This record gives sequence, C-alpha cells and structure tokens, in this order.
Amino acid sequence: MNVMSQFDLSGKVAVVTGGNGGLGEAFAHALAEAGAKVAIAARGHARSLEVVKALTDAGHRAMAVEVDVTQPEAADALLDEVEAGLGPVDIFLNNAGACQHAPALEVTPARWRDIFDINVHGLWYCAQAAGRRMQSRGGVIINIGSISAMIVNRPQMQPAYNASKAAVHQLTKSLAAEWAPYGIRVNALAPGYVKTAMAPVDDPRFKPRWIDDAPMQRAATPAELGPTIVYMASNASSFMTGSIVVVDGGYTLW
Ligand code: NDP
Repeated sequence: MNVMSQFDLSGKVAVVTGGNGGLGEAFAHALAEAGAKVAIAARGHARSLEVVKALTDAGHRAMAVEVDVTQPEAADALLDEVEAGLGPVDIFLNNAGACQHAPALEVTPARWRDIFDINVHGLWYCAQAAGRRMQSRGGVIINIGSISAMIVNRPQMQPAYNASKAAVHQLTKSLAAEWAPYGIRVNALAPGYVKTAMAPVDDPRFKPRWIDDAPMQRAATPAELGPTIVYMASNASSFMTGSIVVVDGGYTLW
C-alpha cells in the first residue's frame, strides 16, 4: 500500500474535545486536512462555531457541540449528536484540559478537584462512552497527556496538573490493553511546551526554565503537533497502541 495513503482519513469522523482553541483547534484543522469530518466539542460555543466556520470555509465538514466534559452524562449526549450530524465516531481525541500554575501549598481543595474533574474524570467519561460504541466497529482514542506526567516541571508549581497527567498516561495503557481485541487503539500524546493560553511560555517566572534552558530553546506552535495527531489517528500507526508519544523538542533529555 502507498505510504502516504495510510495517513488518509477520508470518510472518518473525529471528535476533538477542547477543539475551540489552542492545541485542539490545530488538531481539528490537521484531522480535517487529512480528510476527516470533525466535531468541535467544548464549553465556549461561540468560539467553537468560529472554528467550524473556518473549517467549512476551507471546504471541510465540521460541526460544533456544546459540552462540559466534567458532566458524566455529557459524553453520551455528545456522541449521539455527532452520530446524528456526521456519522459514527472513528476517532475520539481527548484534548480538553486545564492547568494551574501554583505552589503546592496554594492549591485549594476546589482547584485540585477542578483539575482532576477536567483532565482525568472528564477524559474517562468520554473514553468510556467512545470505547463502548467502538466495541463493535473499532476505532482510535487519543488522549493528550503531557511531559508533566513524567518529569517534575521546573519551577515546581503544578502538583495537581502533574498528577492528573500521570493518571492520563496510565489510563491510556489500561484501556489499550483491555480494548485491543476489539480493534480499538488507545494512545497518548505527551507534548512539551506549546505556545497556547495554557502555557505562558514568555512569563519571566517560567521562561528561563521552560525555554532558555531547553535544547531547542523555544516552545512548539500548536500546528507543529498536528501531523503527529494525524499519524496517531490513521492507519499509519496501525500497530501502535498503549504508547505515550513524546513530542517535546528534547525537553525531557535533561
Ligand atoms: P487551552 O487552555 O488553550 O485549551 C483548553 C481547551 O479545553 C479549551 O478549548 C477549553 O474550551 C477546553 N475545555 C476546558 N475545560 C473543558 C470542559 N470542562 N469541557 C469541555 N472543554 C473544556 O490549552 P492547550 O491547548 O494548551 O491544551 C490542550 C491540551 O494539551 C490539554 O489537555 C493540555 O493539558 C495539554 N498540554 C498542553 C501543553 C502546552 O504547553 N500548551 C503541554 C502538554 C499538554 P472551553 O473553555 O471553551 O470549554
């Protein structure tokens, strides 16, 4: 088979949670450019509609669904809406996430719960609902983890985030092992620093460590990670499951 054709996502339906900005918006464009029909799933519906307009103006099929992934019942409602609008879901991208930059002693119980509600519980509800529907026809689930699951960020100001992303990596492996017999591949992308609203890479508190001291001495743009997501979503990665794909400009080398 032609190598490039294995990256083709024509006819596939993809959901991108948190697809209305940052990395998720770039992932939505990358998946659409590879041929997928894309659903943008986030809370900020007006912004989601703007992303959908940009996608449809470029000739792609897309829709927006207003969803708060922290609500356990929201995942099935999301999948129902996408199935009705675009067809059964082949690719589910768990990208929605939140971070707090605060020292451990300043993390309140409410903030700790918020981070886990979005990064772990919301991801779990979505993965379980998508996996249930993929049992009979296969599919791909991609979770966005982080290098924060593997190293402790310097300066050390993200305890809840680091712990939540470690949970994402281990959950990815558990689901991959359990669902491989059903033709469902589950992998995680672990990005390094990417310039988005979440990562204030120019903040003087963080820049010396995150950027100046990193091998490539820069953050990624969201668009730079799009091709990796297309690879993970497509047949090009047909033998890959349970993998944590690190794309960090060498940050974790030292
Ligand atoms: P942003 O803050 O730019 O985007 C977060 C997205 O998640 C938004 O689209 C937001 O939309 C959505 N979201 C947040 N809460 C919810 C919710 N309860 N329900 C539905 N959607 C929600 O961050 P990034 O683009 O940087 O991050 C994307 C992912 O990449 C996250 O999982 C993050 O942890 C991960 N990551 C980011 C890195 C970076 O350096 N930027 C590095 C490593 C990992 P809305 O508020 O409208 O719902």
